[in-house]
Amino acid sequence: MSLIINNVNKTFTNFPALKDVTFEAKSGEFIALLGPSGSGKTTLLRLLAGLDTPSSGGITFEGEDYLRLNPRDRRIGMVFQSYALFRHMTVAQNIAFGLNVRPAKERPSKAEIKATVERLLKLIQMEDLGKRYPSQLSGGQRQRVALARALAINPRILLLDEPFGALDALVRKDLRRWLKRIHHETGVTTIFVTHDQEEALDLADRVVVLKAGRVEQIGTPLEIFDSPASAFVFDFLGSANKLPCHVQAGKAMFDSFEAPIANTAGGDGDYIARFRPFETALSPDGPGIPVTVSAILAAGSALRLELRGADGALFETEQPRNPALTYAHGDRLRLRPQKVFIYQ
Ligand code: ADP
Ligand code: MG
Repeated sequence: MSLIINNVNKTFTNFPALKDVTFEAKSGEFIALLGPSGSGKTTLLRLLAGLDTPSSGGITFEGEDYLRLNPRDRRIGMVFQSYALFRHMTVAQNIAFGLNVRPAKERPSKAEIKATVERLLKLIQMEDLGKRYPSQLSGGQRQRVALARALAINPRILLLDEPFGALDALVRKDLRRWLKRIHHETGVTTIFVTHDQEEALDLADRVVVLKAGRVEQIGTPLEIFDSPASAFVFDFLGSANKLPCHVQAGKAMFDSFEAPIANTAGGDGDYIARFRPFETALSPDGPGIPVTVSAILAAGSALRLELRGADGALFETEQPRNPALTYAHGDRLRLRPQKVFIYQ
């Protein structure tokens, strides 16, 4: 009972946009496709929707060959970043659209369509706004209507292509929580495309990381965050600090200190150690990288500082707020990674 993408390749003239993409979405699973712009996310969604065909490979859903199915019969709901609502239709008419265009013998009755629209308006918490036009809605409300319209056909798979991409940060966070609830209530298998790592880790049961058309890593948000499979994934998850080190007997050795290695590294030798801002200790002296505070980046719930090393290298640290410890531009400190990641 699942969506299986098997060895899919897609080449545009000479450009390989997808290379040997293989993964499985279990029935009801929420998958985030995460990757930078140009990594092939939209291309893959288009293949799933039947808007384009793979150059090779297979796509099956619950044992059925999707590539041989007419796109209309795949029962796929789609939402894009840009509000693709019909401007001349009300919210209710937009939601009913997918049902109204069905051939007569498959079309639900007027009363059934009305009931579906009412149920969906309730689901998206817009019960009283069915008669409005898209121009009378906020960006967040429009995307909720787009989602209701995609759900109206009772889809087997929901494809969301950066649906919150055009909205401001606060609305995005709100919609994230809301989408999670809707997914919980409907249980529809969902592929959610984003280039925002926080969004992917927050929403998904499993994350598929794409790099230049290839699957770089698949795992639960915790697996991806705790064990990034490559330097690419580590860096893509957020601001990474880098420092050359020498690995010996499973430890990363630096000039004046050493640090435990968090992942399974290669053998002894020279590497670039990577470490996260919040996995660092800061002290006025003692072992550590000699640094000078070059900027106070944020002082909200945590304190984030930009630090400059002796050779000009920049580092970032994140420390819990401690009213007894204040830092100022120019302070000389020692920065020490508490654990590091090592990649070939
Ligand atoms: P993403 O959605 O991850 O930003 P896309 O799937 O849109 O990436 O694109 C992946 C790559 O394939 C890009 O380099 C893009 O330029 C290329 N591409 C996408 N569609 C076409 C097309 N129809 N013809 C040629 N190249 C394309
Ligand atoms: Mg895209």
